[in-house]
Amino acid sequence: MISFTETGLQQEILDAVHELGFETPTPIQAKTIPHLLSSGQDLIAFAQTGTGKTAAFGLPVIHLTDVRSKNTQTLVLCPTRELCMQITRDLSDFSKYLKPLNVVAVYGGASIENQIKALSAGAQIVVATPGRAKDLILRKKLQLRNVERVVLDEADEMLSMGFKEDIDEILASTPKNKQISLFSATMSKEVTAITRKFMNDPIELSVAPKNTGAENVEHLYYMVHSKDRYEVLKRIADMNPSIYGIVFCRTRRETSEVAGKLMNDGYNADALHGDLSQAQRDEVMGRFRQRQLQLLVATDVAARGLDVTDLTHIINYNLPDENETYTHRSGRTGRAGKTGTSIAIIHTKETGKLKDIAKRSGITFKKEAVPGGKEICQKQLYALIDKMENVEVDEKQIEPFLPSIYEKLAWLDREELIKRFVSAEFNRFLSYYKDSRDLNVSESSRERSDKSERKNRKERGQTREVSFTRLYISVGSKNRVNPGRLIGMINEGLDSSDAEIGRIEILKNFSFIEIEDQMANAVVKALNGNSYDGESLLVEISKEKPAFSPKSKSKPSKSKDFNSKKSAFKPEKGKRNGNGSRRKNRY
Ligand code: AMP
Repeated sequence: MISFTETGLQQEILDAVHELGFETPTPIQAKTIPHLLSSGQDLIAFAQTGTGKTAAFGLPVIHLTDVRSKNTQTLVLCPTRELCMQITRDLSDFSKYLKPLNVVAVYGGASIENQIKALSAGAQIVVATPGRAKDLILRKKLQLRNVERVVLDEADEMLSMGFKEDIDEILASTPKNKQISLFSATMSKEVTAITRKFMNDPIELSVAPKNTGAENVEHLYYMVHSKDRYEVLKRIADMNPSIYGIVFCRTRRETSEVAGKLMNDGYNADALHGDLSQAQRDEVMGRFRQRQLQLLVATDVAARGLDVTDLTHIINYNLPDENETYTHRSGRTGRAGKTGTSIAIIHTKETGKLKDIAKRSGITFKKEAVPGGKEICQKQLYALIDKMENVEVDEKQIEPFLPSIYEKLAWLDREELIKRFVSAEFNRFLSYYKDSRDLNVSESSRERSDKSERKNRKERGQTREVSFTRLYISVGSKNRVNPGRLIGMINEGLDSSDAEIGRIEILKNFSFIEIEDQMANAVVKALNGNSYDGESLLVEISKEKPAFSPKSKSKPSKSKDFNSKKSAFKPEKGKRNGNGSRRKNRY
């Protein structure tokens, strides 16, 4: 492997790098730095956060900057405010001996006036989130006509957050003759489209195989009933006394519920979600970084940009909608040469989804049995004994109390003493797990219970007449919603797939979906205010009369299983699903 000195970077940059304690380039740095220093050819690099990618593009960008000119020569686009500030801090550190080199961060959610001032003082490198960059371009405060290099960092995240149009427009306002470097953890269709549209014969550099999870991450799953998810989470935490991880939930409501329950049950946990103010989010992230919190319960959106390198566990309390999100989640552990564990808590109907993730991401999942009470107690007990063995004794502080303690306990022999000290610490655990249930569900037992449920229904002649309520949902085809995702969203919100679903109509900006009357309010409550595709969902009972034939309400045609109907179920965008049958809400 080459050394930093061999790369030919300026001495001032090498000094800064040395001061930061970087001894040898990371694999992605070893590949990208020589390329970016010697060639103007566009570059695609597959690299996750934690691989040293900021220095991989940052060091050459700084080296190539003409500090005598105040023009903006490099634009770095990244998905979040956190990441934007992090990159700016890193680039400022790398260039601290190269004055006057100004790196300016511009991002949403902060005063635009201050950012305009900073830009007008001259910024050779601008690090921006796409929305704010576009705004500043429109106001003519961000001048890109002299830009020679554009870096798209975490391109897949930017695109999945819906910044495609912004990126298109920003790139269109940069000079034709420039170098684009794109960094992405995964190669989605959207990323490929950007590379095709804007990049010219790019060289592809990769340090990990495309679309795979980090090699040192073990992927496990537990199969349980939906209602037992929280209990399983607790068992995972109890089984791993030094756990330091993120628990990913799908909705803000679920995030605060799970974090609230964990806190109540005495765990070092807190929630991170979009309903918190920026100051609250910073505070929670600060406590997590300092390890005052062991478990951070977060939504995907809120956890973006949180850069913590030594997580032991990622827990998927629920599987994400998008397969790629799983890769992003699990890629947050097993960094910097350490090993990590990514756990998915799933129910039997999610095996297909898990298989899909495994296939597309090249990940192998191992099914694990949820630990039982005895196993957990044993683990906790040994952790306690280890703690006792290794505890630091402050002789000076404790000395004055010891004589009276010895005197008081003189009647107990060694064995009795140990028993009592351990019990004092451990009784809570023993009693909690005394009669604990087996939470594991086998695939075959679930199939059996599904079959018998269907049989029972048939025997009871249950061709239940269902009448539907029509719901308005504020996302549509522009948010890449399709019937499957809507049904998935409802199942997850209700944490069951029991609600009957009628017709689904997807329009550009919003959708309508028929839900059996009894479940309509529960769906509204479960989904309203959740975040979807970066937007806050508005879900309400539609005031409009259904445009559909009333026939479907009073006399639904034969009930059909969603899976069995799947292939025939392809409504065109903007048109209602015209088959008229209602389906059992399986997904
Ligand atoms: P990044 O992927 O850019 O977020 O970097 C992840 C972490 O690795 C950051 O804390 C960097 O400071 C650190 N880092 C980057 N390059 C090196 C290197 N060559 N040697 C040691 N640490 C590094």
